[in-house]
Amino acid sequence: MSHHPTRLHAMSVSMDDIVRLSKQRGFIFPSAEIYGGFRSTYDYGPLGVLMLRNVKEAWWRSNVQLRHDVVGLDAAILSSPKIWEASGHLKNFTDPLVDCRNCKERWRADHLEADPADGKIHCPNCGSTDLTEARAFNLMFKTYAGPVEDDANVAYLRPETAQGHFVNFLNVLQTSRKRPPFGIAQIGKSFRNEITPGNFVFRTREFEQMEMEFFVPPADAPSWHQYWIDTRRQWYVDLGIPEEMLRLRPHEADELSHYSAGTTDIEFDFPWGWGELEGIANRTDYDLKAHAEASGERLEYFDQSTGEHYVPYVIEPAAGATRAMMAFLIAAYQTDTVGGESRTVLRLHPRLAAYQAAVLPLSRKETLIPMANEVLDLLQPHMMVDYDETQSIGRRYRRQDEIGTPLCVTVDFDSLEDHAVTIRDRDTTEQKRVAIADVVTEVKARLGL
Ligand code: ATP
Repeated sequence: MSHHPTRLHAMSVSMDDIVRLSKQRGFIFPSAEIYGGFRSTYDYGPLGVLMLRNVKEAWWRSNVQLRHDVVGLDAAILSSPKIWEASGHLKNFTDPLVDCRNCKERWRADHLEADPADGKIHCPNCGSTDLTEARAFNLMFKTYAGPVEDDANVAYLRPETAQGHFVNFLNVLQTSRKRPPFGIAQIGKSFRNEITPGNFVFRTREFEQMEMEFFVPPADAPSWHQYWIDTRRQWYVDLGIPEEMLRLRPHEADELSHYSAGTTDIEFDFPWGWGELEGIANRTDYDLKAHAEASGERLEYFDQSTGEHYVPYVIEPAAGATRAMMAFLIAAYQTDTVGGESRTVLRLHPRLAAYQAAVLPLSRKETLIPMANEVLDLLQPHMMVDYDETQSIGRRYRRQDEIGTPLCVTVDFDSLEDHAVTIRDRDTTEQKRVAIADVVTEVKARLGL
């Protein structure tokens, strides 16, 4: 009998499946659930925190570690409001807000479509056409730095990580010994008072971004823009998202951000339709010039070979870490049958899976536990390893499949005699006997890490 799994539903995952799995297995919980939740905010549980860290680590690895022309940064979330004035966010970082006069719901005007039947825009909640004109709503969260709540102490939570890169441009240039073309990479939380958060963690008011500002000679901006579009798309493919679930979408002129001369989105085929994963913008010299003018500092690069000062152009690949994690979960979620039984399996890339391996003693018999611990001790310095000794081995395999653990390492009674373990593969369910002395080498090689 073949144990090879057959694919049943490759792409038929629903959002309900993802939300249920996230909650049941400990990836993502609704925040403040014991108080009835809190406005589309979410907490990352024991597995979610591991996977989210892995998404960010994979981004950092490809954009910083494996390159010589990108350095990192971790800038403050709360900083001078002058940043947001100069960058244009105070004036322009708005969404068009409309109110339904009938049911009082609020919507983003650019997310509403006219009904083809009558050409009118209807409230998605109650169907009324009695909507207000759109007005600009600023998405930045406002707060006060210090005990006095007056205008002089107003501060904003950053709505993107990006400005930190620009205001530190000279600091980085002077300390890193880089020169254009070079990039500054940053991962961190951003906050937007979204009018309509939703679709689970697709759009939340607090989220994490992975952004790079790549500074280039102005004439080279178009080719670097294309380079980053291609490179960033490939990153998702290399981490397991099928090509047909991705597409590139250049922005129309009327949807471009105030700083952009051209933006292409990488979109993903979410269960409800195509949605943005990442935007790659040509921000030109807009930001550096705006901060130079507002601060009086010369935010320029002096090219010794030509004796010229110039303001670099900036190519910005801006991705969401939390949104990407959700896309990876959706792309990986499958159901198939193994030996006549159906199972759910997360075919996550080993680099993204919460645990790379699980050590499972066949039974809780005391004789097996020391050896299981020995194997655990060998593997743990190299990767995240789960350890589970309860329930039948079959059920434990199913659980590891469902959370995406690529390899299970089982210690059984023969192990006491032959000093070997069984390694089971998540995707093929094939099993192989391996000497304990070789287990680390074998597991690392199989994971490709
Ligand atoms: P949208 O048009 O959907 O509001 P945007 O074009 O304003 O998004 P960017 O400013 O380009 O988004 O942000 C870069 C990335 O940050 C997005 O591609 C997305 O992955 C992530 N992101 C932006 N807003 C949110 C949010 N509210 N929740 C989760 N992720 C977000």
